[in-house]
Amino acid sequence: MIVASFTSLILPGIESAGFLPVGVGIALGVLLIYVVDRLLPHEHLVRGYEGPKGMKERLRKVWLLIFAMIIHNLPEGLAVGTSIVYDLKVGLVTAIAIGIQDFPEGTVVSLPLAVIQKRSLGPILLGVLSGVAEMVMVVLGAVFFTAFSGILPYGLGLAGGAMLYVTIKEMIPEIYGEEKNQTLVTLGFFAGFYVMLLLDSSL
Ligand SMILES: [Zn+2]
Repeated sequence: MIVASFTSLILPGIESAGFLPVGVGIALGVLLIYVVDRLLPHEHLVRGYEGPKGMKERLRKVWLLIFAMIIHNLPEGLAVGTSIVYDLKVGLVTAIAIGIQDFPEGTVVSLPLAVIQKRSLGPILLGVLSGVAEMVMVVLGAVFFTAFSGILPYGLGLAGGAMLYVTIKEMIPEIYGEEKNQTLVTLGFFAGFYVMLLLDSSL
């Protein structure tokens, strides 16, 4: 996702409109996820609860895990949505790259959900639901930036900034939290990195 935010969003944006609108967009994207991360109660597997104090007891744990997943999916949907408007090919590459990386990530989220729920159907449904939420963001982003194509470079920056923030702050500590899988996670990251570079340079 770090690579995707540069190759599909930030660099094409800068190429087409210069540094300023993209730079402003990145700052807005970081701010957006920062605010959502502070205000929306959610729970990380390793770092635990985040969000407003006192909300932890009011919501069921399942919801807290789902909200964490939504925070993660929001920037991805936006990324695919804006890059499709910029260039259909770039958009599809972004969708593929995110899809590849979502597979292990999705398992990380739905396994503990399954354990908590003690039923397997609920978490699977929720996984599907979060996929649907992501698709909604794709469509919303695509429609919005088609209608207001003048501010697309801001949108590319915004999606890129949001992806970077969510990866660095939410995902990396989380996937490295399980000590026994660290080598695998690192290898997985570089596999994704090469797939992204390859897809990007061959199109
Ligand atoms: Zn968080």
